[in-house]
Amino acid sequence: MTRQLLVAGGGIGGLAAALSAARAGWEVRLYEQAQVFSEVGAGLQLGPNATRILQAWGLGHALAQVASFPKRISARSSTSGRELASLPLDGRCIQRYGAPYATVHRSDLHEMLRRAVQAGGGVHLHLASEVAHFEVVPEGVQLSWADGRIVEGDALVGADGVWSAVRAQLLADGPAQPTGHLAFRTLVPMADVPAAVRRQEVAAWLGPRLHAVTYPVRAGDMLNLVLIVQGEPPEDPRAWDDEGLAADAQQALAGSCSALQDLAQAASAWGRWTLCDRPPLTGPDAMVRGRVALLGDAAHPMRPFLAQGAGMALEDAAELGRCLGPVQDLELGLPAALGRYAMQRWQRVARVQARSRRNGEVFHATGLQRLGRDLSLAVLGRRLMDLPWLYGHPNVG
Ligand SMILES: Cc1cc2nc3c(=O)[nH]c(=O)nc-3n(C[C@H](O)[C@H](O)[C@H](O)COP(=O)(O)OP(=O)(O)OC[C@H]3O[C@@H](n4cnc5c(N)ncnc54)[C@H](O)[C@@H]3O)c2cc1C
Repeated sequence: MTRQLLVAGGGIGGLAAALSAARAGWEVRLYEQAQVFSEVGAGLQLGPNATRILQAWGLGHALAQVASFPKRISARSSTSGRELASLPLDGRCIQRYGAPYATVHRSDLHEMLRRAVQAGGGVHLHLASEVAHFEVVPEGVQLSWADGRIVEGDALVGADGVWSAVRAQLLADGPAQPTGHLAFRTLVPMADVPAAVRRQEVAAWLGPRLHAVTYPVRAGDMLNLVLIVQGEPPEDPRAWDDEGLAADAQQALAGSCSALQDLAQAASAWGRWTLCDRPPLTGPDAMVRGRVALLGDAAHPMRPFLAQGAGMALEDAAELGRCLGPVQDLELGLPAALGRYAMQRWQRVARVQARSRRNGEVFHATGLQRLGRDLSLAVLGRRLMDLPWLYGHPNVG
């Protein structure tokens, strides 16, 4: 029996879902709106909860070719540059969680998944195919396009990102909302990085009303810098790139330590994102209705302050494959399997969404709260930074 899954969106979540479902024996047709798969994005951190999944899919070696494996996570003051606390990763992460902590360029991870999808077979990738509308029919789900094309599958996964068209139709709950933060992102060739910042570590530079995160990507050839500031969104929060950003980023860092300012000076091209999210999930029916499921940012767009958006999309995909694998009875078994997927995922994702929000407040604390935070980090740093509930989750699929 051929079981056919339609996937809307070919980002990290969509490709991972396609790979996972194909590994579970499904035939997948994936529709991506872009004309080509391009080098969009910047750096991503992948905790051991995410790299464990890539390893289980046989991608550990491919990841090692493109990723960096920082030796530690360091929390620093953005104003003095002083280290407040650190968490060693080198060796310890693999020993404790069975997989490494990695940092990678989004397009490297994307390309890795695309190659795995193509090598594994069972997935048809369609570019220039914007999904605008779906229809649930007695035997499954139909997608149709303006040119008259119609495709039908047994189920549909909306992995079409934060502005998901599938979600808009499925839940009709309005768009994601700006969080009040802007993210400036850039990549600096490691050779141009000031010596004070050129370290094999993930550093979170915590300052009043802003924070910056630095880490190596591209197998250590580049340093990724993301600077998060509080600020009004532009008119269209979907716009993610802009002109003349270097001056804005440098101005935002005016009160920061010289190491950060020098690093920003060394950067040439910046991108800017308006951060948008939704409140934490409140139940499984926010992820699945009948034969239609949501996955990744389409289901749970979150603030990046726990560095888990892509990680949660990979976990969703692994769980989806696990639930779809045994399905034989499409009429009753398939909705039940998708219901199981949502039941397995929603509480964990809600916890990550809530923790990401809280981290933002802690990272941007001012005055007495800031002093209290720094003291807690000095006393309890390692315990606060290690997150067994997150990194140790048994999510391998
Ligand atoms: C500043 C910042 C820093 C971040 N840092 C981290 C980090 O360190 N670690 C981490 O894990 N995550 C991080 N994230 C989050 C991470 O990038 C996302 O959560 C993750 O990439 C989501 O993947 P996705 O596939 O769900 O969505 P997307 O990557 O948005 O993919 C959606 C895809 O669907 C396509 N699409 C959209 N609409 C349609 C349609 N109608 N029809 C067909 N195709 C469509 C899009 O073109 C796109 O290819 C960060 C995010 C930001 C903004």
